[in-house]
Amino acid sequence: MDLENKTLKELFDLVDKIGKNRYHKLTEKNFDNYQQYENWRYVDGNSAFGTTQESKDWVKDHSDSHCPICDTRYHQDNGRTIDHKLPRAKYPWLSMEFKNLWVICWDCNTEKAEMDWYEYERYIFKRYPQSYNALRAFRPIQLLQRKAL
Ligand SMILES: [Zn+2]
Repeated sequence: MDLENKTLKELFDLVDKIGKNRYHKLTEKNFDNYQQYENWRYVDGNSAFGTTQESKDWVKDHSDSHCPICDTRYHQDNGRTIDHKLPRAKYPWLSMEFKNLWVICWDCNTEKAEMDWYEYERYIFKRYPQSYNALRAFRPIQLLQRKAL
């Protein structure tokens, strides 16, 4: 299969098809793991809810002082969040894939919501063209190619 010559949309459709097949094979144990991982993601949340030093360290290692999209410095009211590049609503089988995670600010995360990656690129291109190149650098193309193989 020649993945290099596929458009982003074609690649997404392909991955989506493969993913749906995998999703139907998930077991109860997968969901237990998912719950643990979901708690792990709450970096700035309630520590009783599962925030660990490990998750804090991961965020520290995967972010700098500014949000990569809006270039705003993280601060108390607009802190770091861990977002799924490909939304969980559409790609539940990528929920626990670390390569699908990135750190962006709360505001950007809220704005991105459940947009698919290619929708989000289009949205940023139209609305914040100055941020588009920064966003493209985070395109989860390797993740998609690997999953599609
Ligand atoms: Zn931001």
